[in-house]
Amino acid sequence: MNNFIYSRARDVADAVRQIAAEPTARFIAGGTNLIDLMKENVTRPSRLIDITHLPIDKVEETAQGGLRIGALVPNSDLAYHPLIEAHYPMLGSALLAGASPQLRNMASAGGNLLQRTRCFYFYDTTTPCNKRTPGSGCSAIDGINRMHAILGTSEHCIATHPSDMCVALAALEARVLVTGTGGERSIAFADFHRLPGDTPEIDTTLQPDEIITAIELPPKGFAANYTYLKIRDRLSYAFALVSVAVGLEIAGGMIKEARLALGGVAHKPWRDRDVEAQLTGAPPSSETFGRAAGTMLQGARGFGHNDFKIELARRSVVRALTQAARGTPQSQSDKRTA
Ligand SMILES: Cc1cc2nc3c(=O)[nH]c(=O)nc-3n(C[C@H](O)[C@H](O)[C@H](O)COP(=O)(O)OP(=O)(O)OC[C@H]3O[C@@H](n4cnc5c(N)ncnc54)[C@H](O)[C@@H]3O)c2cc1C
Ligand code: SF4
Repeated sequence: MNNFIYSRARDVADAVRQIAAEPTARFIAGGTNLIDLMKENVTRPSRLIDITHLPIDKVEETAQGGLRIGALVPNSDLAYHPLIEAHYPMLGSALLAGASPQLRNMASAGGNLLQRTRCFYFYDTTTPCNKRTPGSGCSAIDGINRMHAILGTSEHCIATHPSDMCVALAALEARVLVTGTGGERSIAFADFHRLPGDTPEIDTTLQPDEIITAIELPPKGFAANYTYLKIRDRLSYAFALVSVAVGLEIAGGMIKEARLALGGVAHKPWRDRDVEAQLTGAPPSSETFGRAAGTMLQGARGFGHNDFKIELARRSVVRALTQAARGTPQSQSDKRTA
């Protein structure tokens, strides 16, 4: 049994004050990841700061025509929110592809961004893991690595980011609003999660004294031509082997704008602006999509057990782009099976 202190934050300023005063403390929201990590002895916070009573639990329209999602909005409420269903169905679809209904009821938007990798060595404290114990080595590179990354890896870590929601947020170009001792700031989603490099223990650019207060979506939701395709070992309650979020704007038989992000393949949602530029101005054809998928995966590298992911990701990109262009997203079937 590891002792820890429990305290409740009165407001956002109090939450920041508490975390700044005790760097070994952690915020607790839904607890669906943090409590597991504590039970497995991977994380041993000295204090849990309960933020569940803070007034950051609303979905509101912004003056710019977008949406502000409070960090404490539960994943399930968000997925079925009328404004998400109408304007950002790609995000709703990604949320419903994650976890189980019970977990989605507990899981918060902010916690989803900060959930840690599902690399089994990270959870197994008897094995070396640079993310858990910096400098100890990476057990996955020469170990069982079927679930691991094929893009953006380093010699120190080949873990993937497990979130579905974050893949859609990357494609939608969301921003993360945070508050710390230095005040408020807004982080572009592409800059929020990190690649492992030589510091895989650091997942994000959030500072230790900062709290996520909201996620902001720009007005454009690609509601007509989108898809969130998740390939996994079971139809529900499994993390992605590969997932693809696509948003297309099609006019006059040509792609006017394209967004494409991959999950399950890297330490962060993987987006490639060159591929999006390549798609822009091209006809939505199988040749265009095949070429885009080839470019997206050209730098991919497997580590043995996960070699299959390279071809799986290539085919998934083609399928997701085709579904989006046809206006036949996977989200309809998600809602029946989730
Ligand atoms: C069995 C299982 C299956 C799952 N399957 C999937 C899946 O398929 N797809 C998927 O995407 N996810 C999946 N999840 C993960 C789940 O979505 C996350 O655990 C959840 O989103 C985390 O949210 P939470 O509120 O419970 O976070 P918590 O566990 O409370 O916190 C997680 C981390 O975030 C920090 N934190 C929380 N809120 C804030 C904030 N506002 N500001 C700063 N720090 C904060 C905490 O300190 C902690 O470090 C699964 C989880 C489980 C247990
Ligand atoms: S892949 Fe990353 S998380 Fe997994 S064992 Fe290696 S260092 Fe640890």
